[in-house]
Amino acid sequence: MSNDRPRQRRGLMLVISSPSGAGKTSLSRRLVADHADLELSISATTRGPRPGEHDGREYHFVDPARFHAMIGEDAFLEWAEVHEHRYGSPRAPVMAALEQGRDVLFDIDWQGAMSIAQAAPADVVRVFILPPSMADLSRRLHARAQDAEDVIQRRLGRAYGEIAMWAEYDYVILNDDFDQAYADLAHIYHAERLKRARNPWLKPLVQKLLDEKLS
Ligand code: 5GP
Repeated sequence: MSNDRPRQRRGLMLVISSPSGAGKTSLSRRLVADHADLELSISATTRGPRPGEHDGREYHFVDPARFHAMIGEDAFLEWAEVHEHRYGSPRAPVMAALEQGRDVLFDIDWQGAMSIAQAAPADVVRVFILPPSMADLSRRLHARAQDAEDVIQRRLGRAYGEIAMWAEYDYVILNDDFDQAYADLAHIYHAERLKRARNPWLKPLVQKLLDEKLS
């Protein structure tokens, strides 16, 4: 088929969750960097920036009063309390992207994954990233040296609860090798994009094929 006609696509929401330190942020950022049609949902959070994080890039850093006001304005597609802070996915940029046939990736926890899936089941694909072991997770959290020891311990404690939600996801990837985990994620994304329901442009093409008479 020629490329001069736009292929009308229905955008999908790719939700990726894992315990902190299992690699979902690196996997997500690489998938977005490699795909022009995929954009990252930048969440708002009440937690403060870590060293190296910039407002508007990793998160929109807001104070609790602003977050509360945004809830009142129905500005979130979903929001949840995680590690004693609030995190939410702003609704407007997601809706704008989907309307243009673009896809949106969410790096959010299991509560957010469930809320978004309930709100729009046909458009959501949920992927869970597993660490190879809890010892490995602990090593990665210490290696990134961004958080104080008590914060790391809280994140590790919470990891058990997060992993226990794995059965709520459509796909589960074991991240014991980053390149393999990335290849798995990219395959999932590509296959999901090809689903019939996400490609309404196929219908007239099929009709044309069926109407075509061979002489
Ligand atoms: P961190 O503070 O390490 O950046 O994120 C803590 C947890 O909050 C991670 O599991 C992250 O995926 C999750 N998170 C980040 N943004 C959102 C959001 O908008 N909604 C929900 N439900 N979880 C989020």
